[in-house]
Amino acid sequence: RALQKHFPVRGGLLGRTQARVQAVDGVSFEVRKGETLGIVGESGCGKSTTAKLLIGLTPKDRGEIIFDGVPLGPDLPLKDLRKGVQMVFQDSYATLNPRLTILASVAFGARVQGLPDPDGLARKMMDRVGLDPDRFAHRYPHELSGGQRQRVNIARALAMSPRLVVLDEAVSALDKSVEAQVLNLLSDLRAEFGLTYIFISHDLNVVRYISDRILVMYLGEVVEVAPVDSIWAEQAHPYTRSLFSAMPSMDPDNRTSEPPLSGDPPNPINPPPGCRFHTRCRFAAEICKAKAPTLAGLPGNAAHMVACHLHDPASGHPKAGQGVPE
Ligand code: SF4
Ligand code: MG
Repeated sequence: RALQKHFPVRGGLLGRTQARVQAVDGVSFEVRKGETLGIVGESGCGKSTTAKLLIGLTPKDRGEIIFDGVPLGPDLPLKDLRKGVQMVFQDSYATLNPRLTILASVAFGARVQGLPDPDGLARKMMDRVGLDPDRFAHRYPHELSGGQRQRVNIARALAMSPRLVVLDEAVSALDKSVEAQVLNLLSDLRAEFGLTYIFISHDLNVVRYISDRILVMYLGEVVEVAPVDSIWAEQAHPYTRSLFSAMPSMDPDNRTSEPPLSGDPPNPINPPPGCRFHTRCRFAAEICKAKAPTLAGLPGNAAHMVACHLHDPASGHPKAGQGVPE
Protein backbone atom coordinates (compact mmCIF):
# COMPACT_ATOMS: atom_id res chain seq x y z
CA ARG A 1 0.00 0.00 0.00
CA ALA A 2 1.27 3.46 -1.01
CA LEU A 3 4.76 2.12 -1.72
CA GLN A 4 7.35 4.76 -2.43
CA LYS A 5 10.99 4.58 -3.44
CA HIS A 6 13.05 7.56 -4.54
CA PHE A 7 16.71 6.97 -5.39
CA PRO A 8 19.20 9.80 -4.80
CA VAL A 9 21.35 10.66 -7.83
CA ARG A 10 24.11 13.23 -8.25
CA GLY A 11 23.37 16.06 -10.61
CA GLY A 12 24.03 19.71 -11.34
CA LEU A 13 27.35 21.50 -11.49
CA LEU A 14 30.21 19.23 -10.28
CA GLY A 15 27.63 16.67 -9.23
CA ARG A 16 26.96 18.60 -6.05
CA THR A 17 23.20 18.68 -6.04
CA GLN A 18 21.21 15.69 -4.87
CA ALA A 19 18.30 14.95 -7.14
CA ARG A 20 15.89 12.09 -6.55
CA VAL A 21 14.61 9.63 -9.11
CA GLN A 22 10.97 8.89 -8.29
CA ALA A 23 11.19 5.22 -9.22
CA VAL A 24 8.04 4.14 -7.41
CA ASP A 25 5.62 6.74 -6.15
CA GLY A 26 2.52 5.75 -4.24
CA VAL A 27 1.94 2.29 -5.71
CA SER A 28 -0.92 0.26 -4.18
CA PHE A 29 -2.25 -3.08 -5.36
CA GLU A 30 -3.18 -6.52 -4.12
CA VAL A 31 -2.37 -10.02 -5.31
CA ARG A 32 -4.93 -12.66 -4.48
CA LYS A 33 -4.04 -16.16 -3.40
CA GLY A 34 -3.66 -18.46 -6.39
CA GLU A 35 -3.75 -15.78 -9.06
CA THR A 36 -1.11 -14.45 -11.45
CA LEU A 37 -0.84 -10.68 -11.53
CA GLY A 38 1.01 -9.43 -14.61
CA ILE A 39 2.85 -6.10 -14.36
CA VAL A 40 3.61 -4.27 -17.62
CA GLY A 41 5.05 -0.93 -18.69
CA GLU A 42 8.04 0.56 -20.51
CA SER A 43 11.52 -0.02 -19.11
CA GLY A 44 12.14 2.39 -16.26
CA CYS A 45 8.48 2.59 -15.21
CA GLY A 46 9.23 1.03 -11.81
CA LYS A 47 8.17 -2.60 -12.38
CA SER A 48 11.39 -4.18 -11.09
CA THR A 49 11.78 -1.71 -8.25
CA THR A 50 8.24 -2.54 -7.12
CA ALA A 51 9.13 -6.24 -7.13
CA LYS A 52 12.30 -5.66 -5.11
CA LEU A 53 10.43 -3.51 -2.58
CA LEU A 54 7.95 -6.33 -2.03
CA ILE A 55 10.62 -8.72 -0.81
CA GLY A 56 12.83 -6.17 0.90
CA LEU A 57 15.70 -6.46 -1.62
CA THR A 58 15.36 -2.69 -1.84
CA PRO A 59 14.25 -0.92 1.35
CA LYS A 60 11.13 1.20 0.88
CA ASP A 61 10.93 4.89 1.80
CA ARG A 62 7.24 4.70 2.64
CA GLY A 63 4.27 2.43 2.42
CA GLU A 64 3.14 -0.88 3.77
CA ILE A 65 3.68 -4.49 2.67
CA ILE A 66 1.03 -6.88 3.93
CA PHE A 67 1.42 -10.65 3.53
CA ASP A 68 -1.51 -12.86 4.46
CA GLY A 69 -3.08 -10.00 6.39
CA VAL A 70 0.05 -9.31 8.47
CA PRO A 71 2.04 -6.12 7.79
CA LEU A 72 5.81 -6.41 7.48
CA GLY A 73 7.10 -5.28 10.88
CA PRO A 74 7.35 -6.66 14.42
CA ASP A 75 4.79 -9.43 13.75
CA LEU A 76 6.28 -10.31 10.37
CA PRO A 77 10.06 -9.80 10.25
CA LEU A 78 11.71 -9.65 6.81
CA LYS A 79 13.31 -13.08 7.21
CA ASP A 80 9.87 -14.66 7.74
CA LEU A 81 8.41 -12.82 4.74
CA ARG A 82 11.29 -14.09 2.59
CA LYS A 83 10.51 -17.68 3.51
CA GLY A 84 7.15 -17.26 1.81
CA VAL A 85 8.35 -15.37 -1.26
CA GLN A 86 10.87 -16.35 -3.93
CA MET A 87 12.08 -14.40 -6.93
CA VAL A 88 13.23 -15.51 -10.41
CA PHE A 89 15.14 -13.01 -12.54
CA GLN A 90 15.83 -12.63 -16.24
CA ASP A 91 19.53 -13.42 -16.20
CA SER A 92 19.61 -17.12 -15.46
CA TYR A 93 23.40 -17.21 -15.54
CA ALA A 94 24.19 -14.34 -13.18
CA THR A 95 21.92 -15.71 -10.47
CA LEU A 96 23.63 -19.11 -10.31
CA ASN A 97 26.95 -19.67 -8.56
CA PRO A 98 29.26 -20.90 -11.39
CA ARG A 99 31.25 -23.06 -8.97
CA LEU A 100 28.28 -24.97 -7.61
CA THR A 101 26.86 -28.02 -9.36
CA ILE A 102 23.22 -27.84 -10.37
CA LEU A 103 22.26 -30.15 -7.51
CA ALA A 104 24.16 -28.03 -4.98
CA SER A 105 22.52 -24.85 -6.30
CA VAL A 106 19.01 -26.24 -6.11
CA ALA A 107 19.63 -27.74 -2.64
CA PHE A 108 21.39 -24.63 -1.30
CA GLY A 109 18.41 -22.76 0.19
CA ALA A 110 16.87 -25.90 1.66
CA ARG A 111 20.21 -26.74 3.29
CA VAL A 112 20.58 -23.22 4.74
CA GLN A 113 17.08 -23.47 6.20
CA GLY A 114 17.89 -26.84 7.74
CA LEU A 115 15.20 -28.74 5.84
CA PRO A 116 15.58 -32.54 5.97
CA ASP A 117 17.28 -34.24 2.98
CA PRO A 118 18.05 -31.17 0.84
CA ASP A 119 19.63 -33.28 -1.93
CA GLY A 120 16.59 -35.56 -2.19
CA LEU A 121 14.33 -32.51 -2.33
CA ALA A 122 16.56 -30.92 -4.98
CA ARG A 123 16.45 -34.06 -7.15
CA LYS A 124 12.68 -34.13 -6.85
CA MET A 125 12.35 -30.48 -7.86
CA MET A 126 14.78 -30.96 -10.79
CA ASP A 127 12.69 -33.82 -12.02
CA ARG A 128 9.54 -31.69 -11.65
CA VAL A 129 10.92 -28.89 -13.85
CA GLY A 130 11.99 -31.36 -16.54
CA LEU A 131 15.70 -31.74 -15.75
CA ASP A 132 16.63 -35.40 -15.32
CA PRO A 133 18.58 -35.41 -12.02
CA ASP A 134 20.77 -38.30 -13.16
CA ARG A 135 21.92 -36.32 -16.17
CA PHE A 136 22.08 -32.81 -14.72
CA ALA A 137 22.85 -33.07 -10.97
CA HIS A 138 26.62 -32.89 -11.35
CA ARG A 139 26.85 -30.43 -14.22
CA TYR A 140 27.77 -26.77 -13.87
CA PRO A 141 25.72 -23.75 -15.01
CA HIS A 142 27.97 -23.03 -18.04
CA GLU A 143 27.22 -26.51 -19.42
CA LEU A 144 23.48 -25.73 -19.66
CA SER A 145 21.39 -23.79 -22.17
CA GLY A 146 19.53 -20.63 -21.12
CA GLY A 147 16.24 -22.51 -20.92
CA GLN A 148 17.78 -25.28 -18.79
CA ARG A 149 19.36 -22.71 -16.47
CA GLN A 150 16.02 -20.97 -16.01
CA ARG A 151 14.51 -24.33 -15.09
CA VAL A 152 17.26 -24.65 -12.46
CA ASN A 153 16.31 -21.24 -11.07
CA ILE A 154 12.66 -22.25 -10.92
CA ALA A 155 13.54 -25.55 -9.19
CA ARG A 156 15.69 -23.67 -6.72
CA ALA A 157 12.88 -21.24 -5.94
CA LEU A 158 10.28 -24.01 -5.53
CA ALA A 159 12.55 -26.06 -3.25
CA MET A 160 11.93 -23.35 -0.66
CA SER A 161 8.14 -24.05 -0.73
CA PRO A 162 7.24 -20.41 -1.42
CA ARG A 163 3.63 -19.23 -1.54
CA LEU A 164 4.35 -16.24 -3.77
CA VAL A 165 6.86 -16.26 -6.64
CA VAL A 166 7.90 -12.98 -8.24
CA LEU A 167 9.09 -13.53 -11.81
CA ASP A 168 10.90 -10.48 -13.22
CA GLU A 169 11.34 -10.85 -17.00
CA ALA A 170 11.93 -14.53 -16.21
CA VAL A 171 11.36 -15.76 -19.77
CA SER A 172 12.48 -12.65 -21.66
CA ALA A 173 15.96 -13.91 -22.51
CA LEU A 174 14.75 -17.26 -23.87
CA ASP A 175 14.10 -18.26 -27.49
CA LYS A 176 10.40 -18.17 -28.39
CA SER A 177 9.93 -21.96 -28.42
CA VAL A 178 11.76 -22.39 -25.11
CA GLU A 179 9.82 -19.45 -23.69
CA ALA A 180 6.54 -21.24 -24.43
CA GLN A 181 7.77 -24.41 -22.69
CA VAL A 182 8.83 -22.51 -19.58
CA LEU A 183 5.51 -20.61 -19.51
CA ASN A 184 3.59 -23.88 -19.66
CA LEU A 185 5.79 -25.31 -16.93
CA LEU A 186 5.09 -22.25 -14.74
CA SER A 187 1.33 -22.64 -15.28
CA ASP A 188 1.45 -26.34 -14.35
CA LEU A 189 3.54 -25.67 -11.24
CA ARG A 190 1.21 -22.92 -10.11
CA ALA A 191 -1.73 -25.31 -10.17
CA GLU A 192 0.20 -28.20 -8.63
CA PHE A 193 1.70 -26.26 -5.71
CA GLY A 194 -1.08 -23.71 -5.24
CA LEU A 195 1.33 -20.87 -5.98
CA THR A 196 0.63 -17.19 -6.50
CA TYR A 197 2.68 -15.31 -9.11
CA ILE A 198 3.62 -11.74 -9.82
CA PHE A 199 4.77 -11.85 -13.43
CA ILE A 200 6.69 -8.84 -14.70
CA SER A 201 7.32 -8.47 -18.41
CA HIS A 202 7.52 -5.92 -21.20
CA ASP A 203 5.87 -8.49 -23.52
CA LEU A 204 2.09 -8.06 -23.46
CA ASN A 205 1.35 -11.30 -25.29
CA VAL A 206 3.32 -13.30 -22.73
CA VAL A 207 1.63 -11.49 -19.86
CA ARG A 208 -1.79 -12.13 -21.36
CA TYR A 209 -1.03 -15.82 -21.70
CA ILE A 210 -0.09 -16.37 -18.07
CA SER A 211 -1.97 -13.70 -16.08
CA ASP A 212 -5.41 -13.43 -14.51
CA ARG A 213 -5.13 -9.69 -14.03
CA ILE A 214 -2.85 -7.05 -15.54
CA LEU A 215 -1.44 -3.97 -13.86
CA VAL A 216 -0.01 -1.16 -16.00
CA MET A 217 2.66 1.20 -14.67
CA TYR A 218 3.82 4.53 -16.03
CA LEU A 219 6.60 6.63 -14.48
CA GLY A 220 6.44 4.98 -11.06
CA GLU A 221 2.64 4.93 -10.77
CA VAL A 222 -0.19 2.47 -11.42
CA VAL A 223 -2.38 3.81 -14.25
CA GLU A 224 -4.66 0.83 -14.85
CA VAL A 225 -5.40 -2.59 -13.34
CA ALA A 226 -7.98 -5.03 -14.66
CA PRO A 227 -8.83 -8.66 -15.36
CA VAL A 228 -7.11 -9.82 -18.56
CA ASP A 229 -10.29 -10.17 -20.63
CA SER A 230 -11.55 -6.77 -19.57
CA ILE A 231 -8.36 -4.90 -20.44
CA TRP A 232 -8.01 -6.83 -23.69
CA ALA A 233 -11.51 -5.68 -24.65
CA GLU A 234 -11.08 -2.12 -23.50
CA GLN A 235 -7.92 -0.22 -22.62
CA ALA A 236 -9.32 2.58 -20.49
CA HIS A 237 -6.12 4.57 -19.99
CA PRO A 238 -4.66 6.38 -23.02
CA TYR A 239 -1.20 5.10 -22.11
CA THR A 240 -2.42 1.49 -22.02
CA ARG A 241 -3.99 2.03 -25.44
CA SER A 242 -0.68 3.17 -26.88
CA LEU A 243 1.11 0.26 -25.27
CA PHE A 244 -1.36 -2.21 -26.81
CA SER A 245 -1.28 -0.60 -30.24
CA ALA A 246 2.52 -0.90 -30.32
CA MET A 247 2.26 -4.64 -29.70
CA PRO A 248 2.89 -6.93 -32.64
CA SER A 249 -0.34 -8.90 -33.03
CA MET A 250 -1.23 -11.86 -35.22
CA ASP A 251 -4.89 -11.08 -34.75
CA PRO A 252 -6.16 -8.22 -36.95
CA ASP A 253 -9.22 -7.80 -34.70
CA ASN A 254 -6.96 -7.02 -31.82
CA ARG A 255 -5.28 -3.99 -33.36
CA THR A 256 -6.27 -0.65 -31.94
CA SER A 257 -6.16 2.44 -34.09
CA GLU A 258 -4.32 4.40 -31.43
CA PRO A 259 -1.31 6.20 -32.85
CA PRO A 260 1.94 4.95 -31.29
CA LEU A 261 3.49 6.95 -28.49
CA SER A 262 5.78 9.73 -29.53
CA GLY A 263 8.88 10.81 -27.66
CA ASP A 264 10.64 9.37 -24.66
CA PRO A 265 9.06 9.13 -21.22
CA PRO A 266 9.72 12.30 -19.19
CA ASN A 267 12.62 12.38 -16.75
CA PRO A 268 11.63 10.55 -13.54
CA ILE A 269 13.74 13.05 -11.55
CA ASN A 270 11.23 15.71 -12.47
CA PRO A 271 7.98 14.02 -13.44
CA PRO A 272 5.25 16.25 -14.90
CA PRO A 273 2.75 17.64 -12.36
CA GLY A 274 -0.84 16.46 -12.34
CA CYS A 275 -1.25 13.37 -14.49
CA ARG A 276 2.28 12.20 -15.27
CA PHE A 277 1.18 11.12 -18.73
CA HIS A 278 -0.16 14.54 -19.78
CA THR A 279 2.95 15.49 -21.80
CA ARG A 280 2.28 12.56 -24.16
CA CYS A 281 -1.49 12.25 -23.97
CA ARG A 282 -3.64 13.41 -26.88
CA PHE A 283 -6.66 13.77 -24.57
CA ALA A 284 -4.88 16.05 -22.08
CA ALA A 285 -6.92 19.00 -20.82
CA GLU A 286 -6.19 21.76 -18.27
CA ILE A 287 -7.35 19.61 -15.34
CA CYS A 288 -4.72 16.98 -16.26
CA LYS A 289 -1.83 19.41 -15.70
CA ALA A 290 -3.23 20.59 -12.37
CA LYS A 291 -4.57 17.51 -10.67
CA ALA A 292 -3.34 13.92 -10.42
CA PRO A 293 -6.13 11.43 -11.20
CA THR A 294 -6.74 8.61 -8.72
CA LEU A 295 -7.50 4.95 -9.45
CA ALA A 296 -11.22 4.21 -9.62
CA GLY A 297 -13.40 1.43 -11.03
CA LEU A 298 -15.11 1.89 -14.39
CA PRO A 299 -18.88 2.41 -14.23
CA GLY A 300 -20.49 -1.02 -14.05
CA ASN A 301 -17.10 -2.77 -13.94
CA ALA A 302 -15.52 -2.07 -10.56
CA ALA A 303 -12.77 -4.67 -11.08
CA HIS A 304 -11.41 -2.61 -13.97
CA MET A 305 -9.64 0.36 -12.41
CA VAL A 306 -8.09 3.33 -14.15
CA ALA A 307 -6.42 6.58 -13.09
CA CYS A 308 -7.57 9.09 -15.72
CA HIS A 309 -9.78 12.19 -15.58
CA LEU A 310 -11.48 11.09 -18.82
CA HIS A 311 -13.38 8.48 -16.82
CA ASP A 312 -14.25 10.63 -13.83
CA PRO A 313 -17.48 12.57 -14.37
CA ALA A 314 -16.59 14.89 -11.47
CA SER A 315 -13.15 15.80 -12.80
CA GLY A 316 -14.16 18.64 -15.08
CA HIS A 317 -12.33 16.96 -17.97
CA PRO A 318 -14.08 18.02 -21.21
CA LYS A 319 -15.77 15.02 -22.81
CA ALA A 320 -15.60 13.97 -26.45
CA GLY A 321 -17.34 16.50 -28.66
CA GLN A 322 -16.01 19.36 -26.54
CA GLY A 323 -12.77 19.76 -28.38
CA VAL A 324 -11.26 16.41 -27.32
CA PRO A 325 -10.53 13.90 -30.11
CA GLU A 326 -12.63 10.71 -30.03
FE1 SF4 B 1 -4.59 11.87 -20.52
FE2 SF4 B 1 -5.69 13.50 -18.71
FE3 SF4 B 1 -6.22 10.89 -18.65
FE4 SF4 B 1 -3.81 11.78 -17.95
S1 SF4 B 1 -5.74 12.21 -16.89
S2 SF4 B 1 -4.24 10.07 -19.25
S3 SF4 B 1 -3.54 13.48 -19.40
S4 SF4 B 1 -6.77 12.36 -20.26
MG1 MG C 1 13.08 -4.39 -15.16
